[in-house]
Amino acid sequence: MPTAICPECSEEVYVGPEAEQGDVLSCDECGSRVVLVGLDPPEVDLHEDTGDDPAGDEFDDFDYEDDRY
Ligand SMILES: [Zn+2]
Repeated sequence: MPTAICPECSEEVYVGPEAEQGDVLSCDECGSRVVLVGLDPPEVDLHEDTGDDPAGDEFDDFDYEDDRY
């Protein structure tokens, strides 16, 4: 499994096999949110959380097609 180095604590952050550049990951060690900025080799940078979206889940809104039935 590919890993990147957390900029906060210098521990390894696991990068999923299908991760893409721009994905936001969490460091298991310190809990920091990091964004994937490179893939070869995997590289992450600290993610600046705006605090506007506590869920932070880009897949939250897929029920917008409800009225097509
Ligand atoms: Zn960390």
